[in-house]
Amino acid sequence: MGGKAKHDAGGNRCPICGKPSAPRHRPFCSRRCADLDLHRWLGEGYRIPTDEAPADGGAGSDAEDGDDRP
Ligand SMILES: [Zn+2]
Repeated sequence: MGGKAKHDAGGNRCPICGKPSAPRHRPFCSRRCADLDLHRWLGEGYRIPTDEAPADGGAGSDAEDGDDRP
C-alpha cells in the first residue's frame, strides 16, 4: 500500500498546540510554544500539585448562615 500520509509535515507535531512542528523549533511549531512548554516544566517542577484538595478545618463549612440560635 501507500507509504506516506496525506498530511505529514516532518512527522512531528507541536505538543502544545498540535500544529506541525518547525525544524527550527522542534518539536514545537514556534518559539512561543517552546517557551510555553519550558514554563510549564518549570512551573510544575517548582510547585508540584499533589492533591487539589485543600486541607480544610472541617467544621464551619456547611453552615451558610450561622445566625440561627434558638
Ligand atoms: Zn505550537
